[in-house]
Amino acid sequence: MSRFLFWVALALLIYFAVRAKIRQSARKQQEEYRRQYQQQQEAQQPARQVAPPETMLLCAHCGVHFPASENVPAGGRDYCSPAHVPH
Ligand SMILES: [Zn+2]
Repeated sequence: MSRFLFWVALALLIYFAVRAKIRQSARKQQEEYRRQYQQQQEAQQPARQVAPPETMLLCAHCGVHFPASENVPAGGRDYCSPAHVPH
């Protein structure tokens, strides 16, 4: 009987040891993910701060706001696309 109890105790010991190990590695992995995510966020933030806000212009034809880099100037007015420049 005591032999049986010994094996049960051993099995429980192994079970808890394995479970603790799995939990530990899962937590470590989670921390690793969180750290990677934070690093990504920190890496993206300076780029976001450096990028200047683009000037928005108003299309003289359709009235839509569009970035100045896509501007099609014609006759002293701004247009969102060549299709909106009057001919
Ligand atoms: Zn337009």
